Amino acid sequence: MPVYFMKTKVAIIGAGPAGSSAAIALSKKGIPNILIDKRGVVGIPVQCAEFVGLNINSYVDLNNIPSAINQKIKFMDIYAGKNFYRFNGKGYVLNRAVFDRHLAGEAVKTGSKLLTAARVYRINRQKNSIDVLSAEEKIMYEIYYDYLIAATGPKNGFGEPKNGAYIYATQIKTDLLKELDSVICYFRTYIPYGYGWVFPKGKFANVGIGIEKPASDMPLSLSFNKFLNEIRSTGLIGLKIIEKTSGLVPVSGLNEITDGNIALCGDAAGLTHPVTGAGILSAVISGGLAGDYAAESVKASKNLFEDYKEELESVFKKSLSNAAKKRSELYPLMTDDLSIEKNIKQLWPSFEEYYK
Ligand SMILES: Cc1cc2nc3c(=O)[nH]c(=O)nc-3n(C[C@H](O)[C@H](O)[C@H](O)COP(=O)(O)OP(=O)(O)OC[C@H]3O[C@@H](n4cnc5c(N)ncnc54)[C@H](O)[C@@H]3O)c2cc1C
Repeated sequence: MPVYFMKTKVAIIGAGPAGSSAAIALSKKGIPNILIDKRGVVGIPVQCAEFVGLNINSYVDLNNIPSAINQKIKFMDIYAGKNFYRFNGKGYVLNRAVFDRHLAGEAVKTGSKLLTAARVYRINRQKNSIDVLSAEEKIMYEIYYDYLIAATGPKNGFGEPKNGAYIYATQIKTDLLKELDSVICYFRTYIPYGYGWVFPKGKFANVGIGIEKPASDMPLSLSFNKFLNEIRSTGLIGLKIIEKTSGLVPVSGLNEITDGNIALCGDAAGLTHPVTGAGILSAVISGGLAGDYAAESVKASKNLFEDYKEELESVFKKSLSNAAKKRSELYPLMTDDLSIEKNIKQLWPSFEEYYK
């Protein structure tokens, strides 16, 4: 197999929201960079329930990409045991495939080089290079970098996952039989250490559950079938399974952020919220920051990734540690309807009690 040698200032592994945001930040500052993803088409398959709060617009103006919005959302509804709560929950159920493709496209437009269907299978730290296998071109690249940004998602992409605890999630896209303007989360005894969701997207909905493993030994499929039966019995969703997906959500809070001239961002850095599992916005924010610091490092000929770490920790560490603590303290107590109803307000960030 032929091997091609390439050289760049910054190599970025992963063209999810984190990696593409890093590439955009670099290209806007005129720093040569290569964005690499093992997927043949950026954004596909979607492994996400796709809800994001309104504040995404401060980072990615969705007004300019209406096709990235599946549906606007007004409320967040919570069913906890037998109780029901409604909160202001303005935001969007995105079309993640379009959203992710848009970000990667912006990176290319501003100057990034994008390699798809290209899997990074080795980092050679001594040589500052990565080995990449391009399935499409049937060639290998050896790419030399000054700085590397790892935006590889929930697993670090190179063997063992780096994050501590994970939610194992499974989801279908199905028919939505009633109009909804809320995202709905369900806390049930048969979904231990996690929750179920129905997130509407017009005539369809993302319906899924996530359970922390190994904290719970409840089989995912058993729990998911129970959940589908419950929601179907209310007449909210139909029987069709249009798409199926699954994935991991890191829930132990921030992990390793830098390692010499390597910076991690998004899920790879453990930035998903340990209780809600939300990670799109923090991926965009952390990717942008990683790109900014890599650009400044190149310009100053000085590794500034320790400053990146400091800034990321100052923004996220406290809230993520707090959420991880709540998760590990409260979920074990939530074993029946009464204890779910009693603890939900301390667990879920929509409630005022969460912050006390
Ligand atoms: C079922 C589920 C539902 C979710 N629902 C929501 C939600 O409603 N709202 C929300 O905010 N968050 C949600 N999340 C979390 C959200 O999807 C992630 O936080 C977000 O995608 C993180 O972005 P990222 O760029 O860090 O990683 P990713 O989006 O995972 O992107 C990583 C990219 O790296 C590539 N890659 C990995 N390894 C390599 C390699 N070795 N070589 C080349 N490429 C590589 C992958 O192909 C991928 O494209 C959900 C997650 C799951 C699993």
